Amino acid sequence: MSLVTAPARSLAICTTCAGNRVTSITMTLTDGSSVDFASCHGCERRSWTQGGRALDIATVLVKAKKHKVA
Ligand SMILES: [Zn+2]
Repeated sequence: MSLVTAPARSLAICTTCAGNRVTSITMTLTDGSSVDFASCHGCERRSWTQGGRALDIATVLVKAKKHKVA
């Protein structure tokens, strides 16, 4: 899976280790929602946010799995 082809946006600071080696990309999930994915290269923390709100990975997976419109 190679999702990191989009250019990185402005550098974010990791909230866990305060490092600046954070890759942040925006992805559109299969349910149509647009989420920001940030991955820290320092501590390997990964976070998902949508409209500034943190999402947990379970929520993201559910959204990404929905292929049908109910
Ligand atoms: Zn970190």
